[in-house]
Amino acid sequence: MTIAAEALAVAERLERSASLNAVLAWSRPALEAEALRVSRIGSDGPLAGMPVAIKDNIVTTDLPTTCASRILEGYRSPYDATVIERLRLAGGLVACKTNLDEFAMGSSTEHSAFGRVRHPLDPDRVPGGSSGGSAALVAAGVVPAALGSETGGSVRQPAAFCGVVGVKPSYGRVSRFGLVAFGSSLDCVSVFGRTVSDAARVLAAIAGHDPRDATSRPAPPVQVPVPRADLRGLTFGLPTEYFPPDLDPGVRAGVDRAVALVQALGGTVRPVSLPHTRYAVPTYYVLAPAEAAANLARYDGVRYGVRRGAGLDLRSVYRATRGQGFGREVQRRILVGTYVLSAGYYDAYYAKAQAARVRITADFEAAFLTGVDALLTPTTPTPAFRAGAKMADPVQMYLADIFVSAVSLAGLPALSLPAGRSEGLPIGLQIIAPSFEEDRMLSIAATLEPHLSATAEVR
Ligand code: GLN
Repeated sequence: MTIAAEALAVAERLERSASLNAVLAWSRPALEAEALRVSRIGSDGPLAGMPVAIKDNIVTTDLPTTCASRILEGYRSPYDATVIERLRLAGGLVACKTNLDEFAMGSSTEHSAFGRVRHPLDPDRVPGGSSGGSAALVAAGVVPAALGSETGGSVRQPAAFCGVVGVKPSYGRVSRFGLVAFGSSLDCVSVFGRTVSDAARVLAAIAGHDPRDATSRPAPPVQVPVPRADLRGLTFGLPTEYFPPDLDPGVRAGVDRAVALVQALGGTVRPVSLPHTRYAVPTYYVLAPAEAAANLARYDGVRYGVRRGAGLDLRSVYRATRGQGFGREVQRRILVGTYVLSAGYYDAYYAKAQAARVRITADFEAAFLTGVDALLTPTTPTPAFRAGAKMADPVQMYLADIFVSAVSLAGLPALSLPAGRSEGLPIGLQIIAPSFEEDRMLSIAATLEPHLSATAEVR
């Protein structure tokens, strides 16, 4: 297919999938311009005309960036994110901007100011979040790959819910320049793919040191994996804390089946312990809101996006803009974050959470030091839940991240691989690797992928 024809086909698929509410912005002229640009540079780049959907917290000059928030409604960035520049240089096509939980805060994409995203297999369920729009578009076959972002699981968790591959790189592997800041010490641009190879191709294209992001690190490029003949010589740790007695039976069956496959392929499997795992969710939900409260101070009605209360005094402008512009979950995070950073509570909450983060990170380091090459866990405690099920209770929503937060706190690379279905709903296997060992992680995933029959019932 020519690149122009591919762009046309994407436009048609975007139109047909409108009921998912996965997209916040796209246009035929923008897609045509993308196709023209790629044809001009020649179609031999590593992404060669591949359409990629972009989470709407990554800035683009040709389409608006809203973070699914009223406060940025209609905002257009004067520059492109580094990942957008690199994607285009590799021959990729920006397909559209995708729906998310407002400012990437959530685990279901129900916290979008522009309506929830529907799960492609069951419209009454959530696709996960916060990168739910990107996950749903890849699962629905609209695009082969998409960019999302992870602060604490927002690509792996929706990848597991939707039955696609989700790759979170090591912190610092991919530039954050142009990713709207949420929790700066945690944020990572991350990738969804229909297959491990598609996700790896996109990751390879966007990864690498960027002088515009001081936390990005120089490292050898990410390789697109070639499946191995077997897993001989590799040792896999099963952290006991990730297999609690109340784990959903379908999830357990899916992960058990994957572990049996690892053994059949010659991999060695043994239990390990990550004793501080139970502190991961509470630690994350102190540190991420603290950083968010600081990062979101810039939305003041003066410099960005929407202004409310024009004509009133400055304090009233702030109050009206932030009070009306931010949704409930974002306001909750700002309140929690400001509270844990306040003079009287800093030591009790923020400093404690920092100490816990060190322990959580040390658990992983200790496990890898015992000769474990990668860890295998479920990605989520249950398959995709029903819309509305967790909206009234924020803590229940936060607990959806129980198996993904620790990795984010430790800055490690991790991947969610489709591992079959339970009662028709996808199950994700999480593969966690040591820092900057993306190549090992991707090659394990590529080796398992052809054997795992992602759509097979596991129970
Ligand atoms: N669910 C987590 C939160 O709400 C993770 C979000 C993310 O990774 N962007 O903060």
